[in-house]
Amino acid sequence: MDKRPSLPWPSIILCITACVALLAGGLSLWLVLAVSLVWLGSIWLIVAQPDAAPQPLQETSFTSERMGELVEYSGSPILVIEHSRVTVANRAARRLLGKHLIGQDLRMALRHPAAIKLMDKKKSGFTQIRGLVRRRDLWRINRQVLNQQMSVIEMLNQTSEADIRHAHTDFVANASHELRTPLASIIGYVETLSESGPSVPPEKRKRFLDTILSEANRLQSLVSDLMSLSRIEAEKHEQPEQKTDFGKLVRRAAKEVAGIDREARLQFDINGSVYINGDERQLEQLVRNLVDNALKYGDSGSDVTVALSLNDALEATLSVTDRGEGIAPEHLPHLTRRFYRTDPGRSRASGGTGLGLAIVKHIVERHRGRLDISSEQGQGTIFTVRIPALEA
Ligand code: ADP
Repeated sequence: MDKRPSLPWPSIILCITACVALLAGGLSLWLVLAVSLVWLGSIWLIVAQPDAAPQPLQETSFTSERMGELVEYSGSPILVIEHSRVTVANRAARRLLGKHLIGQDLRMALRHPAAIKLMDKKKSGFTQIRGLVRRRDLWRINRQVLNQQMSVIEMLNQTSEADIRHAHTDFVANASHELRTPLASIIGYVETLSESGPSVPPEKRKRFLDTILSEANRLQSLVSDLMSLSRIEAEKHEQPEQKTDFGKLVRRAAKEVAGIDREARLQFDINGSVYINGDERQLEQLVRNLVDNALKYGDSGSDVTVALSLNDALEATLSVTDRGEGIAPEHLPHLTRRFYRTDPGRSRASGGTGLGLAIVKHIVERHRGRLDISSEQGQGTIFTVRIPALEA
């Protein structure tokens, strides 16, 4: 390639015209020659500078080393591929796919038909791969072709987005099912009553009306729990700031939910005052849900102990203990999932919505606390909530 600089003709013509004008104006020939010499000399110096003008980015400027340095600390796995072989794998990529990756054929390293198809194409593109490292993970693989030999691969982990989408669809399906069941029952009984009218014997009519009422109540509880859940979720990043006497609140809410019939079964073990920053309405709901469950699922003649204390880590520690059948270990990790029940029939018969513990979990999280469940079959269950306390 000819590297000689091209002459700046417009500047030269301007210089000559200016000199002629100076001569015509009566300036001495020597002075005009000296000016033109300085002018043309400086133009030449600028033009002759090798790096005077910026060179356009050449394909050859994509070197593996330079790209490796650029992408090393990126949070996403990034690879540089030359003729299908991995020449650069940044830190995130090495952590994901192993150090041995460098030098390997990427199609072998990923071992996935979609990845092979993407690499065999001549153009840039992307694909999604499920189960790349773990069975359920989902990755988007972007391939940017740089030139005939080189391409850059960027890997984006989309597992959590996919999980959220999946949980959302599941939730809508479950909620619709929960709402449809009582509605179908109400519609069925109302139709029978309206079609058969006076021919339905009074005691049967009473039974139908009682069922309609209890199903309607179930619908109301469901809608109210769904609304609570969505309100708590919407506020989950706002930390509550109301100074609350937790002991007083626990006593009040527990007695309220037990009602006159079940109050005698409550045993309190609350000494002194424990203050926390809290949202009183939500904390009352948390206590109500835990105590109601303990009374519902504990043996009907047995006590439920509600204890509150301050532990060494300055946490208000609330525990609700029942003496009931307990919960089998395999159910424990799932209890706080929406609509999860160990015994759906029993839960529904006692007016349960399957949302109580999901609500408890969200309230505890909003208060920066922890929820622990321990249970022994045949003995009973202890739900423990720990929430950071305020200094007395
Ligand atoms: P539900 O409205 O069905 O009570 P929850 O979310 O409050 O819904 O509880 C979920 C499930 O956890 C219940 O259906 C029940 O199977 C189980 N459970 C909750 N609390 C207890 C308890 N104290 N003892 C035994 N099982 C319990």
